[in-house]
Amino acid sequence: MADQVPIEKGLFTWPSEDPRLIGSRCLDCNAVVFPAQSGCPRCAGDNTQVKELGTRGTLWTWTIQGYPPKSPPFEGDIDNFEPFGVGYVEIHDEVKVETRLTTANLDELQIGMEMELSFVPLYQDSDGNDVITFAFAPCEA
Ligand SMILES: [Zn+2]
Repeated sequence: MADQVPIEKGLFTWPSEDPRLIGSRCLDCNAVVFPAQSGCPRCAGDNTQVKELGTRGTLWTWTIQGYPPKSPPFEGDIDNFEPFGVGYVEIHDEVKVETRLTTANLDELQIGMEMELSFVPLYQDSDGNDVITFAFAPCEA
């Protein structure tokens, strides 16, 4: 079985039994950002701390990526491209995260719905590893 490697180090805890997105929180003004930053975009301070984010939120807005993105940076199989959902999920009491969605089915997506963090394989790298990224999935009703 291929190894699973994260698309980028520092974006989420991996490997992990309970993987989380890695953001940061400003100790002066409480602003939370994702991905983690050493400086605070709200108060311009540098008193930030790494914070593992919550795994649930609400779908703030979304769309469907219906054609292959420019390659590079897109690394997927353009000949077998399948549309995918993208959007912003507002993690409860934390931050809006730009994210891939696990579905591209228009009937399964609705602004304001509850979403849950998930992880999906994107493509195989040149070493044969499955490259993993985060995504959000609609919660079961
Ligand atoms: Zn701040």
